[in-house]
Amino acid sequence: MRIVIIGAGECGVRASLALREQGFDGAIDLVNGEAHIPYERPPLSKPSADGVALKPIGGTDRLLEDRIALHSDSIALSIDRDAREVALSNHERLPYDKLLIATGARPRPLVLNGNDVPQARYLRSYDDAKALYDVISPDFRLTILGGGFIGLEIAAEARKYGAIVTLIESAPRILGRAVPASLAAKIEARHRMAGVTFHIGKAIASVSAARMITLEDGTEIPSDVVLAGIGSLPNIELAQKAELTIGNGIAVNGMLQTSDPAIYAAGDCCSFPHPLYDNKHIRIESWRAAQEQGDHAAKAMLGSTDAYQAVPWFWSDQYDLTLQIAGLAMDATEEIERKIDEQASILFHLAADGRLLAASGLGIGNSIARDIRFAEMLIAKRAKPDKTFLADPAFKLKSLLSSAV
Ligand SMILES: Cc1cc2nc3c(=O)[nH]c(=O)nc-3n(C[C@H](O)[C@H](O)[C@H](O)COP(=O)(O)OP(=O)(O)OC[C@H]3O[C@@H](n4cnc5c(N)ncnc54)[C@H](O)[C@@H]3O)c2cc1C
Repeated sequence: MRIVIIGAGECGVRASLALREQGFDGAIDLVNGEAHIPYERPPLSKPSADGVALKPIGGTDRLLEDRIALHSDSIALSIDRDAREVALSNHERLPYDKLLIATGARPRPLVLNGNDVPQARYLRSYDDAKALYDVISPDFRLTILGGGFIGLEIAAEARKYGAIVTLIESAPRILGRAVPASLAAKIEARHRMAGVTFHIGKAIASVSAARMITLEDGTEIPSDVVLAGIGSLPNIELAQKAELTIGNGIAVNGMLQTSDPAIYAAGDCCSFPHPLYDNKHIRIESWRAAQEQGDHAAKAMLGSTDAYQAVPWFWSDQYDLTLQIAGLAMDATEEIERKIDEQASILFHLAADGRLLAASGLGIGNSIARDIRFAEMLIAKRAKPDKTFLADPAFKLKSLLSSAV
């Protein structure tokens, strides 16, 4: 059997390694659209003191040892589903019995008055990060569009370099989609303390060729770099061209299988039904989900029929703060707060029937990690924990696990 994996990001690499861990002995082709060896993305927005470095995933030695054929700097152009072949930009054709699409996502482009804004820069790849951090210096004017995770992490990094950082968010608050308002307010306060200037609830009217940003209220913001962090779009074009079913990403079933049983999709590019959340189709952009789904897709391609149902988990580091979110709070009707210390707290999000759906924690360093870990296990067990226990920081959440069904 031959397995081809398109995309050598977190998900594709993990899938290729998992195939060997599962004892698969056939050919594995891993199509890497980038010229670099496969690398981790989270460090790109939170580099070490030495600057941005390329942190390999798995390591090329491991790929070689595992006899994984890495096709670098090669783009998969099309999938011939009848012939079961993938055509690459270097004119190679890769035959497959099973195919995994792990093409990830790309930044949503900044569009004003129906036109792309060519002055806007983005952060998705190592090359993007290198180009950005190489020019940031004290008094450099960085204007960030979008108060999401990427924009805020870059704001924190740029302040370490002494840059003049302005962040514009058109919604009424930062982190509107993913983070409860009270935690988002603490994060904003931390950024203000560090010297970031915010324009919240403000829309952009124009960006001049010399990168002067004008807001709709007439405010002018001169900028050396305009960085847009306004969300991502799943890379679905290959699947679309192959006429696979699409819906907020490449639509897959619980086994991460697309509408063609020989083709799977996983990671940032796919949307899947989540058993913990009424089988709603969701798309997750998270490092851990990309790994877990790569693992899951590998097992599914080798015959497992288990449904993917890992609890979504995400983290973000900004200054000394760490945010962690386990689960999805979209259907929650009640929030219970657990104050761990002066700076750390966790919000538990409960459904109307008392079931724990999600937990969002913010604190310095590792202060919330342990409780979020237990919350994640309780979410997986569909537990309905006693609210007084959740609110009491002295109560050990671990002890709830044995009583949860
Ligand atoms: C700057 C940054 C910081 C992040 N920080 C965090 C964090 O703190 N916490 C967290 O949980 N998550 C974070 N993430 C998200 C996390 O990195 C992603 O969810 C994860 O990388 C997704 O993995 P993936 O393999 O699905 O996609 P990707 O990592 O996007 O990899 C997909 C690969 O496929 C390639 N590709 C696409 N189309 C083709 C084609 N036709 N042919 C060949 N190759 C192709 C792409 O070039 C890319 O290399 C961050 C992401 C970014 C960009």
